[in-house]
Amino acid sequence: MLENNKVTLIACPTCQTKTPWTTENVDRPFCSSRCKLIDLGEWANESYSIPQQDSEEDEIFSESLTIDPNKSFM
Ligand SMILES: [Zn+2]
Repeated sequence: MLENNKVTLIACPTCQTKTPWTTENVDRPFCSSRCKLIDLGEWANESYSIPQQDSEEDEIFSESLTIDPNKSFM
């Protein structure tokens, strides 16, 4: 009982939930495997999508801008 009270609590980097830092907690410092995957997913998404989405959004924007005046002109 006393040993259980001495567990060190750390804040999950993803959701800030206090989670015990124990050898049984395989997902530490995350509170769950879900938060672990979210953090890894966000890291991967950011590094992959920033250069790609920027140019794609630019093209979509310039396309819709040129299509709109054409429609009203016709
Ligand atoms: Zn979490």
